[in-house]
Order: sequence, then structure tokens, then C-alpha cells
Amino acid sequence: MNTIREAVLEARRKGVAVGHFNASNSEAVTAIFRAAQNLRVPVVVGFSEGERDFFGIPQAVAVVRSIREKYDFPIYVNADHTYSLERVKEAVDAGFDSVIYDGTELSFEDNVKAARDAVAYARSKDRDIVIECELGFIGKSSKVLDELPDGVKISAEHLTKPEDAARFVKETGADMLAPAVGNVHGMLRGGKDPALDIERVAAIAQAAPVPLVLHGASGNSAEDIAAAIKAGVGIVHINTELRVAFRKALLLSLQENPDEVAPYKYLKDPVKAMQKVVEEKLKIFNNIQ
Ligand SMILES: [Zn+2]
Repeated sequence: MNTIREAVLEARRKGVAVGHFNASNSEAVTAIFRAAQNLRVPVVVGFSEGERDFFGIPQAVAVVRSIREKYDFPIYVNADHTYSLERVKEAVDAGFDSVIYDGTELSFEDNVKAARDAVAYARSKDRDIVIECELGFIGKSSKVLDELPDGVKISAEHLTKPEDAARFVKETGADMLAPAVGNVHGMLRGGKDPALDIERVAAIAQAAPVPLVLHGASGNSAEDIAAAIKAGVGIVHINTELRVAFRKALLLSLQENPDEVAPYKYLKDPVKAMQKVVEEKLKIFNNIQ
């Protein structure tokens, strides 16, 4: 069984990317697993701070790990956007395969300092834990947006600079890097986000010798995502599109079955709706027709 690090490096060698999908509940974990199992590709289940507080931190790790062991399947659990060193340590200690330290609201120097501490903590453990860091602000919430999030600017001068990425990775020892390349968290109403700057992705990949992670890919076109993967992206994050699919299908399911009170019945269609989104995305990420 590959570790998450090996799975991502193997994806890079093949010119494809590993899909990362967020979960708030076990229905999402089921949908993500079924989709990946159908397509026989590795997958990462991500839990943000809010999502893992809702699910339970040890429970999130235990559920994903139990699937991995029972089915001998490459499914990994990631502590998505973690904003403090305390919570990085909590996630490392809880057994997450990878942890994202997000210091994008700090100055470059403070982000470097905290990221370096996060990496050092992971390295002090006797198992392999991937630490991903973030450089460049792309907004914070996975929701449907009427306009770009506050503080997010996607003109060329505000995107992550290749020389900054190189310095950041060198000084922190981060295993993976999430840059700002025109991507935003959440997606614009209507589902069409601004185009990604593929040349910038390629330039950052050239400068920084680690797999890049594309966050906020909900709302980006399949062509843009495929081009970004070719240019150096090893993991692609999707959250909002799953949330939208779940909510829509849940509303419909409740409307169509007003007297049904068994969650395992009225939640079937919402699970299927999420699974469909995950499969569509995994096909793009893994170049499956
Ligand atoms: Zn993200």
C-alpha cells in the first residue's frame, strides 16, 4: 500500500493528479470511497477544522483508515486548512496522513516561521506525515459566491510568484505547496470561475521542487484543471460542488418522500449525487475517458 506521499508522486510521474474531496459526514465519505473504488484510483478525504470538529477528529481518522484496511484501498485522510500550530499538532497526533498548515493570512516571514514549526513537528514522529503549506490568499470558505471573496485578487501581480514559492519551500521544508494561481475557494454562482493561470502553475512547478496542490477547483473548467495537472499539480481539491450536489439531492429526496423518516432511505439519493460529482472529477484528474 502506497503512502499518500507515494501516491501523489506516482500520480505526478503518470501526469495525473489525486483527487481531494471534503467530507462533513459519513455519507460524504461513503460517496467518495465508492467513486474512487469504481474507478480504481487513489483518493483523499479532507476535513477542514469545522468539518472535523463536526465529524469528530479521531472518528474522521478511524473511518477512513478502516476503509483503507478493510478494502486494502488507497484512501487517505487529510486535515484540510489548519490555521494554528496547536491544531496542526492535534491533527498529527490524531493520525491524519497529511496536514495542511495555512498561514496565508500572515506575512511571508511569519508564514515561513509557522510552516517550518509545523514541518518540524511532523518530522519528530516515527511515521511519514505529509505537510502541505499555502502561499497566496484565495479566500476561506467553500460556498456559492456572488463575487470574489474579500481580499482575493486574481490579477497577475497578486498571484504566487515562482521565486517566493522556491524560497518558501526551501526555508520551510514543506512537502507540498498550494499556490494562488487564479483559483478561489468556493465557486461563483452559475458555476464558472475565472480562468487559471496555467503559465504561472508551470513556472511555480519549475521553481519549487514539490507537488503543487490546486485548491478551490469547484467551478473551474475541466480543460483548465487538466492543463494545471499537466503543468505540475499533484492534488486537486473539490468541496463546494459536492456540498451543492448533496443539498440539492437532499431537498428533492425530502420533498418526494414527505413521510419517510429513515435516514438510510432518504439519504440514498444524496449519496449517489455526491458520488456522481466525485466520479466526474476523478475522471478529469486521472485522464479517464
Ligand atoms: Zn482549500
